Amino acid sequence: MTDPSTGRSNSNAFHVLIIGAGIGGLCLAQGLTRSGISVAVYERDTSAEFRDQGYRIGLKEAGAQALHHCLPPHLFDLCVATSIRQATRMVFTDEQLTPKFAKPVPPVEPGQAGFGVNRLTLREILLAGLDGVVHFGKTFRHYEQLADGRVLAHFADGTSATADLLVGADGTNSAVRRQLVPDAVVDELHWAVYGRTPIADGTLDWVPDVLVDTFNRVIGPAGAAFAVATCRPREPVAAAAARLAPGLRLTDQPGYFSWTMPLLDDSLRTADAATLHQAARAMVDGWHPAVRRLIAEADVAATFPVCITSARPVPPWDSANTTLLGDAIHTMSPGRGEGANIALKDARLLRDALTEVAAGRVPLSQAKQHYEAEMLRYGFEAVAASLHQPFAPAARGGAKPA
Ligand SMILES: Cc1cc2nc3c(=O)[nH]c(=O)nc-3n(C[C@H](O)[C@H](O)[C@H](O)COP(=O)(O)OP(=O)(O)OC[C@H]3O[C@@H](n4cnc5c(N)ncnc54)[C@H](O)[C@@H]3O)c2cc1C
Repeated sequence: MTDPSTGRSNSNAFHVLIIGAGIGGLCLAQGLTRSGISVAVYERDTSAEFRDQGYRIGLKEAGAQALHHCLPPHLFDLCVATSIRQATRMVFTDEQLTPKFAKPVPPVEPGQAGFGVNRLTLREILLAGLDGVVHFGKTFRHYEQLADGRVLAHFADGTSATADLLVGADGTNSAVRRQLVPDAVVDELHWAVYGRTPIADGTLDWVPDVLVDTFNRVIGPAGAAFAVATCRPREPVAAAAARLAPGLRLTDQPGYFSWTMPLLDDSLRTADAATLHQAARAMVDGWHPAVRRLIAEADVAATFPVCITSARPVPPWDSANTTLLGDAIHTMSPGRGEGANIALKDARLLRDALTEVAAGRVPLSQAKQHYEAEMLRYGFEAVAASLHQPFAPAARGGAKPA
């Protein structure tokens, strides 16, 4: 039975409180639940619906294996069944789509070796079976240490919850990090605009092959560029859910193109979707007609700006019962497609460490120290690597306090 004031399933058991129902926080919650550990997740969003964070996520071996490790087998199989069809080539072209460089992408059987996912589908699968564990509409404000060694989290609605361990999985602008590591710095690298164009009947008749099922980059003059990912599930998500997880409702995901361009005009950072969409159209004026049409036929309301950020390394912190995971500690440029993979890897490592604690084999302090030392090492290695990517827009803007 869950106690509504604490989210605990058993008032005496070791209890973990996670702030943030994103990719990392939910994977950890799944893993802990699988290990029989009491866990509650507090999320500021009011539902699982889409947030402005991009549409497609490429999972590599580390991310796919972490999901395999933490999810019940049928939910991992559902991730694979609903995965996005793989790209077959990497292609760079000029703005008239004349290829400048191309090479084949070796095929990988989707599974533990990796696969692409639709972000919303992944989040919906990660939420499966967590009814009563995930509390939506709860914005974390701050925490305090209690005299009995536990930690108390306070939320914007005036409620609070206690735990033996608080995990900040609350993303790039983490409020948990602000309190735990107040000197941490996150650098603003550049801005980009993201959009989405439905694949309707006949769309694939006019989109050139060079843009379909490829990792591509169309490079124009004066820093302008365009990249588009083809996102088509291997199996319709509703059919896959009915086959593998009867009763689980997944939002339908017809095929679409997800595209992105650097946002070169600083005044557009706060622009609404319609203004951004107009600006994107203007940026490709004179480019190949297919690029112009891809943007013209976009779902205008789904156009949004993203600030690409990168965390500076932080030294280990001193806290008995508060830690961090994923973008909350080591946010990075998405150029190499590592952020979600590393967040999932964190979730797996922390889940394994806490399983030892709950079983009484390792004290919490030791497990936490082991997790943080490893996570900080590989996490900031990945941040450093993400800063060295071909064709990355030059870093602009400045450091912002985390
Ligand atoms: C455009 C784009 C494309 C990307 N593509 C890829 C890719 O292909 N591959 C890849 O590996 N990575 C990719 N990434 C990076 C990836 O999205 C992140 O690294 C990943 O989402 C991090 O997961 P997380 O759980 O740490 O944080 P998030 O997924 O950001 O989740 C944090 C959660 O915390 C919640 N939250 C925040 N503040 C509070 C609060 N105060 N109280 C309660 N809840 C709160 C948020 O609402 C959110 O649900 C991309 C990122 C962007 C921006």
